[in-house]
Amino acid sequence: MTVERTPASLGGATSHGHLLNLIRSADGLSRQQLLAETGMSRATLYERLEALLRRGWIYEGEALEATGGRRSRKIRFDSRGRVVLALALGQTHATVAVVDTDGSELRSTTIIHDIGGPAGEVLGRLTDAGETLLAQGTGEVLVGVGVSVPAPVDVASGHVVHPTTLPGWQPDAIVEAVSQAWSVPLVVENDARAAALGEWEAGRGTLVYVKVGTGIGCGIVVDGEILRGAHGAAGDIGHIRITDDGPRCRCGRNGCLAAYSSGRAIADRLAAEGLSDVDAIRQAALDGGKSSLEALTQAAEVLGRALAATITTINPDRLVLGGRIGALPVLVDNVSSRVFADVVERIADGLVVEAGDPHDRTAIAGLAALVMRKVYDPAAIDRALAPSAQ
Ligand SMILES: [Zn+2]
Repeated sequence: MTVERTPASLGGATSHGHLLNLIRSADGLSRQQLLAETGMSRATLYERLEALLRRGWIYEGEALEATGGRRSRKIRFDSRGRVVLALALGQTHATVAVVDTDGSELRSTTIIHDIGGPAGEVLGRLTDAGETLLAQGTGEVLVGVGVSVPAPVDVASGHVVHPTTLPGWQPDAIVEAVSQAWSVPLVVENDARAAALGEWEAGRGTLVYVKVGTGIGCGIVVDGEILRGAHGAAGDIGHIRITDDGPRCRCGRNGCLAAYSSGRAIADRLAAEGLSDVDAIRQAALDGGKSSLEALTQAAEVLGRALAATITTINPDRLVLGGRIGALPVLVDNVSSRVFADVVERIADGLVVEAGDPHDRTAIAGLAALVMRKVYDPAAIDRALAPSAQ
């Protein structure tokens, strides 16, 4: 969790929201430690703790060694029983998971679907699965819902925008479906960006995450925040044009990166050999199948070339390749060689290229983090505790 060390910069006036996030990120602190960390006066600190205790956001945990003749208890963020529901939608399957506030999975189910189908049907099956999973818990409190989709998303509204992968979906289809099922805060995010944040939670640093499954997605995390750009399209690398006269892309143009290196493009090339979907290609590669490995090597070569520019622009600590195609060793090895051959030493120094999760685990962890950031955003906590809101 993010450690928000803002007290000094606030001159000791740590707000309720910042205080709560300090407690949450530190996994519990004593009152003495909180006084030292925040530089607040004892009276102000105790008043703020009292307000947070009343709301049930924190609790007094285990007793600490007595100091100065008084026994005190560790102040902890109250995550007990609180859960997040995550719906991670891929093009051919989806994972629905109930996770704790740290993003660790409690229960989950995977559904095979076609995301190109009617939004009501696709989302209805997932919200039903979510209801079933939530009903299996006892004493749990649903904090919020996170949904990831393989399409561009306007995060402020939760709407999908220009979704070539979701033809016929109304922009607000997800917001509608989820708000009918649950009246809790909702976060909608692009799948690669959610996974990028999930990877960041596990390893920190400056991160470029590329998901190669049926399509290609990318998420960039700088200073713990997803890089969105002026109009929300930062990192949308799938349609970088590699050549003017290359293969036809689903976006209608020729020669996009996705037309060379996406799972769909590889499947089109290997269909004659009976490898017509991402799972078949993945399995063939894992089994050492020659044509699969050759096609993946070529795809990685093009992807690595395209990524060298991104890597040079961002200068990350890590390039993580995830998704059912992206996490394959043949892809990671060849992208890595290409990138290291194409970037200058100052960019290559300290860069780690590694395989991520082939499935939805990191996207789910990222969704949990996004929901927690939204629900426990310091400004939201302060608003909830403002006198007019009482
Ligand atoms: Zn394209």
